[in-house]
Amino acid sequence: DAATRAITGLVRPIEDWPEPGVTFRDITPLLSDPAGFDAVLSAMADAARGLGQLDAVLGVESRGFVLGAPMARELAVPFLPVRKEGKLPAETRAATYDLEYGTATLEIHVDALAPGARVVVVDDVLATGGTLTATQSLVEEAGATVVGHLVMIEIGALGGRGRLEPTPLTALHTY
Ligand code: 5GP
Repeated sequence: DAATRAITGLVRPIEDWPEPGVTFRDITPLLSDPAGFDAVLSAMADAARGLGQLDAVLGVESRGFVLGAPMARELAVPFLPVRKEGKLPAETRAATYDLEYGTATLEIHVDALAPGARVVVVDDVLATGGTLTATQSLVEEAGATVVGHLVMIEIGALGGRGRLEPTPLTALHTY
């Protein structure tokens, strides 16, 4: 379909970035192609509609903002940013997770989510699943539910999908 063609044709692999042995999937050529970007956004919005009643789209800084905000607009639901530590100005809750070297912390505003809210979490790429797992814990601490995770690209070999189970993950394309 059009979204798969856009991803396979426009997302560019960058070898040995940000370190030797890693192939980084660079989505910027897709973002600069209006038809391809539109096809991806439409497919992601369709996938979100398939999750039933939704109260918000959460986007993870920063490429999750680029995809999540236009999706929320298309679905006519709130967009809620999940940000790196120290960026959100009001009271926050935080989740810290392990990286290959060190840790990272994500935050959300305490008043962003009502208990019982049903949300979808959006990012560009699923790698190990650490980012989406931490985001899900922020949602659950608020008494809300992640009805699904939604990414443009899944790096299958890193096993992220298994870490998210039983929460469903939709990926438009898997490498
Ligand atoms: P994880 O937490 O699943 O290991 O890594 C996913 C996070 O790192 C996402 O926020 C994603 O934006 C970023 N990321 C990891 N690998 C890539 C990649 O190859 N391309 C892009 N665009 N982002 C990546």
